[in-house]
Amino acid sequence: MRQNFAAQLSLFCRKIIVIVNVPIANYDPYVVNPTIFSYFLWLIKLGKILIVTRHMTELSKLSRLVVRGSWFALAAIAVWFTVPMVAHAENLDRGTVQAENRGLGAVHRPNATHFRSAPPSGSTGPVGSPLIYWGDQLIQTPVVYVIWYGNWNSTDGSDTPAGQQIIRDFLNSIGGSPYFDINQTYSTNGYTVTGNVVFGGEFYDAGSSGTTLSDASITAIVNHALISGTSTNKALPYNPNGVYFVLTSAANINYSGFCSSFCGWHTSDPYGANNLRYAFVGNSKKCLSSCAIQTTKSPNNNPGVDGMISVIAHELEETVTDPENGYWDMNGNENGDKCAWTFGTTYLNAAGAYYNVTLGSRQYLIQRNIGLSKNGNDYCVMSRSQIP
Ligand SMILES: [Zn+2]
Repeated sequence: MRQNFAAQLSLFCRKIIVIVNVPIANYDPYVVNPTIFSYFLWLIKLGKILIVTRHMTELSKLSRLVVRGSWFALAAIAVWFTVPMVAHAENLDRGTVQAENRGLGAVHRPNATHFRSAPPSGSTGPVGSPLIYWGDQLIQTPVVYVIWYGNWNSTDGSDTPAGQQIIRDFLNSIGGSPYFDINQTYSTNGYTVTGNVVFGGEFYDAGSSGTTLSDASITAIVNHALISGTSTNKALPYNPNGVYFVLTSAANINYSGFCSSFCGWHTSDPYGANNLRYAFVGNSKKCLSSCAIQTTKSPNNNPGVDGMISVIAHELEETVTDPENGYWDMNGNENGDKCAWTFGTTYLNAAGAYYNVTLGSRQYLIQRNIGLSKNGNDYCVMSRSQIP
């Protein structure tokens, strides 16, 4: 999804790996030793899946296609036999875009209107396909910068100064929390992930890239914020440990893919001898049924921004543990992906909103994250102490 060809290729190959991860147990009738004939049949089908893949930017759609079509399952097996090493190698390229969405599969899509029970807690057992460390950098203590893009002083009740304060409070309190300490378990190879987070500063951009955005716009917006300050809106410093979040307002910003394919993503571009790590998260108010788990009530009375908080947590923990080529599993999933839209134990507050963590003076409902256990398994948890 980036302009960069290597990144596109890398993302493409991660999608292939996603296809490979067909739940083969569901396709037992088709799991047979390939004969020469069926092998070529699969390659024909593989050609089709490649065409489909070129036109898909949405992992969930792909996986739904895979689940629906037995031919796709066969093609996936063919991929497994033919190109896994190629896909693996291409994943070593940097610059992959990790997109988040709630998944459009029937199982994982709570109906917004009828969703009145607690948010999904998720399994407490070991998570399949463990994360693998691929040897590149980890961010020990991220310094988070926020770029408020669009109109964050609107009258929609969500893109507001009060909404911004929810995000600031979150970023100022997540560091050192039992939740973010989960990431300490990723420390390796001389990198000590501290579990701390520094909120480094913020920048306002009312619209340097217009109101209709593309992926390239997000890159431009980040680079703009690094060089285009004024005395009252200072440019952000470049920080090799920085994670730059472009947070778009709901009211007046359109970004193709946001809401239909993803709720957020993170990536990395070379920056001199270093890397520029940045992420996009849009205000979930744009599409609460796709990018928020609670659509009417929320812990801070702002379902759009409360929805963003969970996506921000997701992107931040992924960027810290996989800025370029850190931890991801054989399906191309990072830690946040593997626990997405599961929340562990949740509590109903007096106002009727669910939350699962209290940080500072606020309650939030944020997704779980993978904790790496000394027993060799991965678990989705809400705090380091919950890791078996
Ligand atoms: Zn992700």
